[in-house]
Amino acid sequence: MKTHRVAVLPGDGIGPEITRAALKVLRVVEERNPVHFDLIQAPFGAQAYFDHGHPFPETTQAICDRADAILKGPVGLDYEATKKIPVDMQPERGAVLPLRARYNTYANFRPIVLPQALAHFSPLRPEIIGDGIDIMLIRELVGGLYFGTKTVGVDADNHRYVEETLRYDEIQIKQILKKGLELAQRRKGVLHNIHKSNVLKSSVLWNEVLEEMAPAYPDVKIVHMLVDAAATHLCLNPRQFDVMVMENMFGDILSDQGGGIIGSLGLMPSACIGDAKAYYEPSHGSAPDIAGRNIANPYSMIGSAAMMLEYSFGMAAEARNIWAAMQAVFADGFSTPDLTQPGVKVETIGTEAFGDKVVAKLRAAPRVA
Ligand code: NAD
Repeated sequence: MKTHRVAVLPGDGIGPEITRAALKVLRVVEERNPVHFDLIQAPFGAQAYFDHGHPFPETTQAICDRADAILKGPVGLDYEATKKIPVDMQPERGAVLPLRARYNTYANFRPIVLPQALAHFSPLRPEIIGDGIDIMLIRELVGGLYFGTKTVGVDADNHRYVEETLRYDEIQIKQILKKGLELAQRRKGVLHNIHKSNVLKSSVLWNEVLEEMAPAYPDVKIVHMLVDAAATHLCLNPRQFDVMVMENMFGDILSDQGGGIIGSLGLMPSACIGDAKAYYEPSHGSAPDIAGRNIANPYSMIGSAAMMLEYSFGMAAEARNIWAAMQAVFADGFSTPDLTQPGVKVETIGTEAFGDKVVAKLRAAPRVA
């Protein structure tokens, strides 16, 4: 029996609801495999700030330090409520970015997946979905504008100004591009490099580094695409993409667009991987507009737990069973309200019921070993 210690950070808004569903699934994984998850919950985010004076309290840091992996729910409040927290203590700046920096989780894998059978969830026409969308968007997660120096001041003319710097060095660029090239090798041999080299010098260096690396990957075809064009292509012809790699802010924005083309941000899990530690979180935020109503889609959180099994604990086959269980719930005609489209008949169920149906499907799935 193997024991894995997991720091569980339910977060804010819908975080606790969708985390509950994911933890139930992990308990079923324990029933089916010689594995035990030591699940240690800890405060993180806006509520942690109100309760403990910091969005990433020291006690939580210590729990994360000792954990084999971290399963994190979304954090944050709505716009007005956020203003009640000092700027540097607001959850992204005060908790999420420090979490990423602490464990140097530089590679963020965000699957954008919609099987043909679920084309009705997408706002795109079925002929655009074709035989399904299956993209892995890789976002650099610890560099660029989000981690640059920030200066806020008043200039000589008494005008307020702000300056934020965007810095990447070649080591950072190389390590994320390596992830993209290697994944492209294992998948279809095509890597879309998303950049903005017509304007940003950071993209010029990024592309130079990629050109230097490319000869070592002769089996990977590299397609260069400007980020603005990529936004359009994602809507018009998403099936041209298989693996996409990009810097931090481009990835933040395009991955949310990915959620849009497959029907909901609730379908967007992610893995944030460093060389020594990884954490797993939905790509979306805390959805304050629907929090506490048992209507959030837990797919993104359960999917993040599945990615944890695959990437951190070597349980790829059981992870596949979890994906299959979730797809089977959809195939039975159920969905959470975020996925309902006009004219499409599905039976709408809540967060807890969706999670319970996934649990039942997983229990019924053949065991891996
Ligand atoms: P959001 O991603 O929380 O929500 C955008 C829209 O998608 C909303 O309509 C929401 O209801 C819907 N949505 C998101 N997840 C869903 C799910 N699982 N099921 C059904 N619908 C879902 O973005 P926002 O409203 O702009 O931000 C809310 C808060 O989240 C902000 O405080 C923001 O800073 C924070 N945020 C946190 C993270 C993170 O923790 N890594 C990431 C993004 C945003």
